[in-house]
Amino acid sequence: MYEECPFSVGANTIYYKELLNMLEAERPGAKLHFYLSFLRAKEKEGLLANWEEPRVELHACDRCGQPTSAPGRCAFCRLWPEEVLERPQSAFVPLTLVEET
Ligand SMILES: [Zn+2]
Repeated sequence: MYEECPFSVGANTIYYKELLNMLEAERPGAKLHFYLSFLRAKEKEGLLANWEEPRVELHACDRCGQPTSAPGRCAFCRLWPEEVLERPQSAFVPLTLVEET
């Protein structure tokens, strides 16, 4: 079981998952039935057949080069203050390489 994202507090998906878990606790197999019914509706009844994913233009982040839909920098790079981003890359040491003393 994965931990929930700390930013997901109050998200509707958490509520729906809790509802499904309550249903499963009350009636074992309910989640599987729900999922299989979804798959059947998708395959045989054309559920989501007309669904179109919104088209997103991706380009390389101006700083890190990772794909982003935001103009300029990606969301991760926009989190950091400018003075942190201006440090040379050698100033950043991956945590896995820091030895415990
Ligand atoms: Zn970036």
